[in-house]
Amino acid sequence: KIEVLRIGTRLVRDDRVTTHVTLVSRAFGASKIYMYDANPEIIETVYKVNKMWGSDFKVEIIENWKDIIKLKKKDLFKIVHLTMYGENINDIQDQVKKEEKILIVVGAEKVPREAYDMADYNIAIGNQPHSEISALAILLDRISQGQYLQKKYSDAEREIVPTKKGKNVIDKTTN
Ligand code: SAM
Repeated sequence: KIEVLRIGTRLVRDDRVTTHVTLVSRAFGASKIYMYDANPEIIETVYKVNKMWGSDFKVEIIENWKDIIKLKKKDLFKIVHLTMYGENINDIQDQVKKEEKILIVVGAEKVPREAYDMADYNIAIGNQPHSEISALAILLDRISQGQYLQKKYSDAEREIVPTKKGKNVIDKTTN
């Protein structure tokens, strides 16, 4: 079981990044994201994606990220904080893969020191600065070994049939 916690609110809302963090979490195998005050349209977008393409991925708006970490620790989640200062993913991925419940923490801005201390793992997707979207995608890919790539949802209204050219989509509501 994998969930994601996005720490931080930017002064200027960055709706595209917030949407992408959410869509990557859903598409790459997490079941829920906790985040600060998102534009309600983002939540609506995610629920529309769920309806059309399946899954019951959840978004929860939070007030205090530390409370979420404490709650998850009680529920035996391991806290995996993504930071360029952490241990290299190549060295630690085999260990993280074995964990049954994981809360992945990403930052939207400068992450407070406490997040580093509360984490069970501080993991770097390389030691260069990039983005929470890419860091999240790579971590999810590494720990799930690409299993989400085969995932099909029985509750989806539409399903894509991979094709070399063009688009082939089955409308499952008419079947
Ligand atoms: N400047 C911020 C700081 O000092 O904490 C980082 C902002 S960065 C754009 C946003 C988030 O992307 C970080 O909090 C981290 O979760 C993630 N991130 C960026 N580069 C990363 C890397 N090389 N490895 C792991 N996570 C990374």
